[in-house]
Amino acid sequence: MSNESTRTRESASIRVSLAEALAAGHLLLADGGTGTALQAEGLDAGEYPELWNFDNSDAIRRLAQRYAEAGSDIVYTNTFGGNRIVLRSHVLADRVAEVNKLAVQLAREGLAAAGRSDCYVVGAIGPTGDMLDPYGDLTHEEARDAFLAQATALVDAGVDALVCESFAAIEEAAIAVEAARSVARVPVIASMTFEQGGRTMMGVTPELAVQRLTDAGAAVVGANCSIGPEVVEPVILKMRDASPETKLLAKPNAGMPQLIDNQSVFPLSPADLAAFAVRMKDLGIAIVGGCCGTNAEHIVAMARAVGKCRRATGR
Ligand SMILES: [Zn+2]
Repeated sequence: MSNESTRTRESASIRVSLAEALAAGHLLLADGGTGTALQAEGLDAGEYPELWNFDNSDAIRRLAQRYAEAGSDIVYTNTFGGNRIVLRSHVLADRVAEVNKLAVQLAREGLAAAGRSDCYVVGAIGPTGDMLDPYGDLTHEEARDAFLAQATALVDAGVDALVCESFAAIEEAAIAVEAARSVARVPVIASMTFEQGGRTMMGVTPELAVQRLTDAGAAVVGANCSIGPEVVEPVILKMRDASPETKLLAKPNAGMPQLIDNQSVFPLSPADLAAFAVRMKDLGIAIVGGCCGTNAEHIVAMARAVGKCRRATGR
């Protein structure tokens, strides 16, 4: 046996990269919601979640810790709105690199507190919130530069992968994936948000999403947020039929929120998400998790259901 394969095996026993874990074909469990979980900790609905990286670092660390303890193999950074164009309207406008790097560090500290050095940190990149030319004023170049700056900061801070998530416009999603890919070194996940009826708000079908985003260089393509499993599941089936070789991600909300006493209440229970996770495992998808309205309890149930129970008893 060559020295090279021995070395490969030794490093693998220390820590398998996320690319290797994806290639191995086992189901990876992602985390639950970020924004809604922080709201449960006191973040106001109108407040900018990324500010908490500075102002409430403990809550950001704890969130990663809770998800890692619950059984997540992957936690997302608190950087969904961490691009220059979203930050423009906040006090963080000049702090793109700083806010993204800090978020990665806090996620790592949370994983360390959970004793989960095997858990992956994935840098979250959300849409700009602006419409691209010709529908709006945002030029392709401005969008590319903004995603590139954010992806560079996240990769410099040592993320294991990048995820471009919650996109509704295919062109913007493709620009984000291409920018993230150009920073290279780590896998890029691309995930769009689909509405009832199975298309994004901009009319993108699952078939178009999986083709265009795979072409853009995404290692994994999928659906997140949306109304919940009832929308995400048929979308995933269509993506699989359109591109059986593509690795898929499903990270739905805990159903359609209802306003009860001025609070958004998400109806789906941990058991509901656990049943969904089992169906996704049976389909052979790469990554399953939850989005808005899902919390550590949902992840615990999903972890148990797919045979990844990690939470110590009595915790
Ligand atoms: Zn969501």
